Amino acid sequence: MPERPYVVDEMISAKAIAARIESLCREIKHEFATTDKLVVVGLLRGSFVFIADLVRELDLPIEVDFLEASSYGDAMESSREVRILKDLRSGIEGRDVLVVEDIVDTGHTLSHVVHLLQSRNPARLKSIALLDKPSRREVDFRADWIGFEIPDEFVVGYGIDFAQRNRNLPFIGKVRFPDQA
Ligand code: 5GP
Ligand code: MG
Ligand code: MG
Repeated sequence: MPERPYVVDEMISAKAIAARIESLCREIKHEFATTDKLVVVGLLRGSFVFIADLVRELDLPIEVDFLEASSYGDAMESSREVRILKDLRSGIEGRDVLVVEDIVDTGHTLSHVVHLLQSRNPARLKSIALLDKPSRREVDFRADWIGFEIPDEFVVGYGIDFAQRNRNLPFIGKVRFPDQA
């Protein structure tokens, strides 16, 4: 099938994202002020830009690890069934952990991952998502910190893709199909 053309309209600027991360990091540093070493867990692949900016703003001793959960594939709808495709390299028992996600949409992915990691008995487990679409929620879950609440729009950029494209946009934009008017 030929690819359907689309455009990306800016929704959240790079500057607004940077300012929000600065203020979130003040709260996170306060929460984890006493930690020996915080394990920052990025959910691949959408959080890779967010986590890079986040950790450089957090002057705490940290380790970085990654976990990959199954996602949309190349579709625009959630699959609801969450599978772990790549697990953490390190154990987190007794550790302070911050899980970093790009978007909470239906809530299935982050809620599944948080419950899984909680079962490994970390000392403290918190979660942060850059974006939240509360109107789409199907499970009762809220991240401890949210960058921005957004309406029910399909977004790309700042690490987030549409069929693996647009991850390198420095801002968050929404996808629009001009042939749909
Ligand atoms: P949930 O399990 O909460 O429904 O979905 C979470 C995942 O779906 C996010 O981590 C993200 O990968 C993907 N997702 C949700 N909304 C969007 C969106 O607007 N654009 C893109 N590219 N992915 C999204
Ligand atoms: Mg994701
Ligand atoms: Mg994706």
